[in-house]
Amino acid sequence: MTQQEKEELKNIIQTEITALADEIASLEDVLKPIKKDCSLDSIDHKMLKQDQNINIQRYEVAKQRLNRLKAAYLNIDNTEYGICQECEEDINIERLKLIPESKYCVSCMNELGL
Ligand SMILES: [Zn+2]
Repeated sequence: MTQQEKEELKNIIQTEITALADEIASLEDVLKPIKKDCSLDSIDHKMLKQDQNINIQRYEVAKQRLNRLKAAYLNIDNTEYGICQECEEDINIERLKLIPESKYCVSCMNELGL
């Protein structure tokens, strides 16, 4: 990987981290406990709960991805970054641009069923 490609990936990761942090902040906002609202009947309340569960899932997914991206960002100057952990071949740069936290190349991902 060239220095220029690394810089490009760092920019991509930073943009993604900012976007995810925004998403997490707005999810945290909606995830505040539902206030007891007497005007809601039980069906409304059930639907609110379902929405809430979807938001909790999105929140967890976003947080996990944020952690992986932060780790990738710290790792990018290591020699192991961008190398498949399974076959030790270079991971395609286009793939890294889409998923900078990739640890496996596409064919190993498929083989491992990830
Ligand atoms: Zn591989």
